Amino acid sequence: MLILVANLGSTSFKYRLFRMDGAVAEVVAKGGYERVTDYATVIGDAIETLRRDGIITTPDEIGAVGFKTVLGKDLSGCVIADQAVIDALEGFAAVAPAHNPPYAAGIRQFARILPKARLVALFETAFYQWVPSAASVYAVPRVWRDLGIRRYGFHGASHKFVAERSAELCGREDVAEIARRLYLDGPRPVSGKPFRVVSCHLGGSSSVTGILNGVAIGTSMGFSPQSGLPQNNRVGELDSGAIPYAMRSLGISLDETERQLTKESGLLGLSGVSNDIRDVKQAAAEGNPDARLALDHLVHSIRHWIGAFMLELGGLDALVFTAGIGENGPDIRAAVCAGLEGFGIRLDPALNAACAATEADLADTSSAARILVIPANEELVLAREVYRKLS
Ligand code: ADP
Repeated sequence: MLILVANLGSTSFKYRLFRMDGAVAEVVAKGGYERVTDYATVIGDAIETLRRDGIITTPDEIGAVGFKTVLGKDLSGCVIADQAVIDALEGFAAVAPAHNPPYAAGIRQFARILPKARLVALFETAFYQWVPSAASVYAVPRVWRDLGIRRYGFHGASHKFVAERSAELCGREDVAEIARRLYLDGPRPVSGKPFRVVSCHLGGSSSVTGILNGVAIGTSMGFSPQSGLPQNNRVGELDSGAIPYAMRSLGISLDETERQLTKESGLLGLSGVSNDIRDVKQAAAEGNPDARLALDHLVHSIRHWIGAFMLELGGLDALVFTAGIGENGPDIRAAVCAGLEGFGIRLDPALNAACAATEADLADTSSAARILVIPANEELVLAREVYRKLS
């Protein structure tokens, strides 16, 4: 079966075509378009390019298209991308303006251009469907909650992959199977010891998720991808009282406030240097105190959430790092793990220094918890979930 994974941005369309041999996926083609104004044209062009390059002989050979949708109103999970998904995306277009309208448009266009393909949406919130209400509610009035204001969580595809892979790497095939089949069967009990994971997705945007027996118990991201850890240029955690105070004091509009919190905050806002951690590290190494503070704040925030989930989980079997910073940042990993020996987390400095974007266990032999690097590959995760859904 050929599965096309569509990545739709507000002005971009990227795709990867996977050939599935059972659940094993192989990339057979990839491509993309920037400055997109009309999704129908670029999607049609992509299909024609695949035909011209001899990857497919007819468009009907593409059996399925997968969409990594972000946030749906009253809908989540790994589901057939039908009108209900489009309605859910449009219902929260104001909350995810850069993501929801392009996905709604893309689903419509693929339904028209590839009428025989099965369309599947994997919401980024899907992994958090079973998080207890106590961990996802905000203490706001009923009318706010009725609007759908609660903690949803994001990076679900990435953290779910960590749930599967960490269990495989720790010899917990029972838990790995629960995690793999989560969107088909829901959570299932384990008979042996519980398997407790804290997953740190540290990239352009970052989140920490607690995972018990393959199922998320909570996450640092909230109603929008604007809470939890400081992001590249988005604020992360912020007391809601700061917003009206800043608006009144600075005399700025709601739109301008939103722009500053989503474009000029996070690592960029704190460091004043860049939204790319490599530049921030460089500046910190040259003695820039604001850059140093930005890095320290990121580490502090990661540890804050790791601590919260370790408590909820009652301990830890694996601490996992994934995504750009998690995979490539030995210094951040070392700072996160510093002084945690008493909690059974002991990093091997040489293994940590040597690991760059490859799967590895960085724990010292005396460490009670494994310390894993698991490279993220969200397109692959999507292809697998689409395959599982349709088989
Ligand atoms: P996203 O998909 O959310 O944009 P990524 O997972 O690609 O995020 O991560 C991007 C972040 O990872 C950037 O802040 C970048 O600086 C960091 N990063 C990427 N490569 C490296 C590297 N070799 N060393 C340190 N940080 C890196």
